Amino acid sequence: MIDISTLNIKELHELYINKETTVNEVVSLYMGNIIKNNEKINAYLEIFSDVADYVKLAQEKIDNGTATFLTGVPIAIKDNMLFMGHIASAGSKMLENYVAPYTSPVIQELLNQGAIILGRTNMDEFAMGSSTESSSFGNTLNPLDITRVPGGSSGGSAAAVSMYGALVSLGSDTGGSIRQPAAYCGLVGLKPTYGTVSRYGLIAMASSFDQIGPLAKNIDDAEILYNALSIPDSMDQTLVPIIKRNEYKKEFKKIIGIPRDFIKDGVDPEIMDAFNKTVSGLKDMGYEIVDIKLPLTPLSLAVYYVIQPAEVSSNLGRFDGLRFGFHPDDANLNLNDYYEKVRTGGFGLEVRRRCILGAFILSHGYYDAYYNKAIALQKAIKNEFINAFKDVDIIMLPTAPGLPFKFGEKSDSPLAMYLEDLFTAPGNIAGIPGITVPVRYNKDSLPVGVQAYASHFNEEHLFTIGRDIENLNNKNNE
Ligand code: GLN
Repeated sequence: MIDISTLNIKELHELYINKETTVNEVVSLYMGNIIKNNEKINAYLEIFSDVADYVKLAQEKIDNGTATFLTGVPIAIKDNMLFMGHIASAGSKMLENYVAPYTSPVIQELLNQGAIILGRTNMDEFAMGSSTESSSFGNTLNPLDITRVPGGSSGGSAAAVSMYGALVSLGSDTGGSIRQPAAYCGLVGLKPTYGTVSRYGLIAMASSFDQIGPLAKNIDDAEILYNALSIPDSMDQTLVPIIKRNEYKKEFKKIIGIPRDFIKDGVDPEIMDAFNKTVSGLKDMGYEIVDIKLPLTPLSLAVYYVIQPAEVSSNLGRFDGLRFGFHPDDANLNLNDYYEKVRTGGFGLEVRRRCILGAFILSHGYYDAYYNKAIALQKAIKNEFINAFKDVDIIMLPTAPGLPFKFGEKSDSPLAMYLEDLFTAPGNIAGIPGITVPVRYNKDSLPVGVQAYASHFNEEHLFTIGRDIENLNNKNNE
């Protein structure tokens, strides 16, 4: 009998090619867990009806010797990724019945490799939020403590893996939405370098930050998925060609920089304790630890909450009730009343707040005062990271400042919710890759993640340090 609580992709691949199990058997195990848990957890919004067709195709690949690591791997995808013929609603009533007219290249690659896409997962509406509470389709519960949020916005993708309802999943990260829910659900989560994974077929939120990435139970699985995602695609002009990416590759000298000034206040003591123990464990393993100064980086959050709403208000302008999605059935409305009905009926509060804020930031007179200043600061923060990475390979921070919180605890205070992104937003502002790795020093505690950043296109460094952190965890749990 396969134990899916410890199963990883390479082991599953071995079982398949040695004919010790079948795709049908494995998918049935995951489906069993979904049937048992999803009604309560609400990780999935929909289980796709064509799973059996893909199970057959995957089994054929295995039988004819063309299987890759991803063949027969049960995967959950976030509800903002297009898979032709399937609904992609971005967690919003606005797109509740929107059927994808094409398949995103990222999803296509998974299908080409014979992965099994089980269904689409719940998320904060249009990926705005840190708790999945802003979804139009109900809360997702954290499988590790159902009184608490799973994080967000990829909360459904995190919960799906954490409840053993998928082996791995895809999320999207604009300001932390892969890393924070991964940390809250005890998983590994990677936000790749901006320009590494195609955004074609990802419902746009803030296009200059959005990036798809993997959530997994361990580094190996995250790396396998990342390798499949980070392929060339001519439909996304912001993708950086592979040869250009290679020019950024650096030697790994095992030097970690810690911006102590940035993390001295406002971090939960349990997180700080786990962070410090991880750093000293890495030191014992031969890493050099240095203090670094990143004086501008704490401003990333403020910069994010200027540029992000500006891009949101531009991107979401297309949802006018005429072209896409929700439209009120009332022929007597004049245009203004029609728009009002579309946007108050289709969008939730947080999305409306960001659209209004963005329209304000971009309006005449405020553009220079806010948007242009934020863009100038973004450049300065990016340079601050580029300079820091001349001396260190990794910069470590906590993933989130707090532990998974209770439902409703932050939903009345947008600012408290925005603070969740304190340590993740800098990665999107600078465009650098960031990974969260679960660390647990106290078996009864809530999940804690530590975060490592590397310089542009050096994801390999994150996998290396991630594996070392996993080894530390294993030693710790012996
Ligand atoms: N919490 C952030 C926000 O609400 C990040 C969202 C994301 O990464 N998609 O904007």
